[in-house]
Amino acid sequence: MGLPNDLQLSFPTDLLIDQQLITGEGPGEPILNPATGQVLCEVREASAEQLNRAVAAAARAFGTWSQTTPAERSSALLKIADAIEKNAETFARLESLNCGKPYARALADEIPAIADCFRYFAGAARCMSGSVAGEYLAGHTSMIRRDPVGVVGSIAPWNYPLLMAAWKTAPALAAGNTVVLKPSEQTPLTALLFGKVCAEILPKGVLNIVCGRGASVGQPLVEHPQVRMVSITGDVSTGRKILQAASTTLKRTHLELGGKAPVIVFDDADLASVVEGVRTFGYYNAGQDCTAACRIYASSKIYEKLVADLSSAVSTIKVGLQDEDGVEIGPLISDRQRNRVASFVERAQMAGHMEVTTGGKIRPGDGYFYEPTVIAGARQEDEIVQREVFGPVVSVTRFKDMEEVVGWANDSEYGLASSVWTQDIGKAMNVAKRLQYGCTWVNTHFMLVNEMPHGGLKSSGYGKDMSMYALEDYTVPRHVMIKL
Ligand code: NAD
Repeated sequence: MGLPNDLQLSFPTDLLIDQQLITGEGPGEPILNPATGQVLCEVREASAEQLNRAVAAAARAFGTWSQTTPAERSSALLKIADAIEKNAETFARLESLNCGKPYARALADEIPAIADCFRYFAGAARCMSGSVAGEYLAGHTSMIRRDPVGVVGSIAPWNYPLLMAAWKTAPALAAGNTVVLKPSEQTPLTALLFGKVCAEILPKGVLNIVCGRGASVGQPLVEHPQVRMVSITGDVSTGRKILQAASTTLKRTHLELGGKAPVIVFDDADLASVVEGVRTFGYYNAGQDCTAACRIYASSKIYEKLVADLSSAVSTIKVGLQDEDGVEIGPLISDRQRNRVASFVERAQMAGHMEVTTGGKIRPGDGYFYEPTVIAGARQEDEIVQREVFGPVVSVTRFKDMEEVVGWANDSEYGLASSVWTQDIGKAMNVAKRLQYGCTWVNTHFMLVNEMPHGGLKSSGYGKDMSMYALEDYTVPRHVMIKL
């Protein structure tokens, strides 16, 4: 695909360290367009010395940024939101090129959510509340403060690079922390443009952006003694490594890890909206979404019809290049990720009792495309039901009653998102209260708002993004007692 002229020579490649935009001094990483496999540009990693400089700058800036008023921080975040909107098309174009996702979706879905995230935290910073001050010991007045933690190391994944950067940096900055952000080595471009924009808005050192791989830059960031908190969105295995690395300095951690969302469809559900919902929310972003509606449990009575209608609906999903007319989903992020997805489907086919009712193949030609796939006849113990695929693959399993399906839905290492589809509100509430998931949607899936928390249970981690709960995560409650 051709690039717009203004972008042909201007991919952002500079890191942001202490308000300076500078080239990384570590090894170079080719940045690909996953829809074609072509190299867009090369971004050099931060050297160890540059990482130390970024952390030192953030530590210095913490002294003054943490002492600003919520109103001052709020004003900076509002300016960031405006700047993102002003450059919406460039941000969306970079995200779409670097991730392979449809340009129209990046522009219409992601950029407004990102600007809104900064606006939400601009307001939330001024609205924190807590328990009343009082004399809990005679002759002494106690009060609670909520203060920032210090330098936060934020580590983002490749599926929604700028949105994840926003979820991490907005609450951290709103609360008065300073940040060193490391985007995914595969998708750094929007974070680097974000750095350029913020260099004009935020004081020196408040936000720093370093690029590089997990082992060479992420891990030293986690281990750095001046970093007081680490926030990561990524894979469960990465979360484990980060917890281990953080243990030597006993850092506060904020983990947002994978998911395998159960979608429970009772026989009284509106099947047309279930099919439409799963077609959209199971395959959005080529299924590379930790909340993707990927593990369907269908009541025996409607199982056959659901499989048939879903398979035919999914076969109409338009897969293609970023700017193709009517394109709904793009490629997977890399050849490696596509091979991983393909191998899950192959193993499911080899098991014998499952049937691929649509898709199930790599799309030949350039780019890392995989056909939107439905696998019917999956059983609870099957790998395709138990493990996160992170691709455009949905499994369907038949259940007989509520006890069975609630047990199966909860029988998972993950605990991020879930949904229940029924016309009976009592049944929906009954199931929702028993599901061990950070979020349960009823008759929808995937919808997020900045006012509500997003985060998991079990191996999906325990950090909350968005909402006042994120502000709590990025602050520490402190007790101040005055002898009268
Ligand atoms: P990943 O775990 O491979 O990488 C995430 C980030 O961690 C990258 O920036 C990477 O460089 C860094 N990293 C890797 N190893 C590290 C180490 N040892 N120390 C420090 N940093 C390290 O994840 P990914 O493949 O980029 O993203 C996909 C995963 O993210 C999926 O499992 C998905 O479910 C999860 N995810 C979760 C949420 C959520 O909100 N819970 C949202 C999006 C994605």
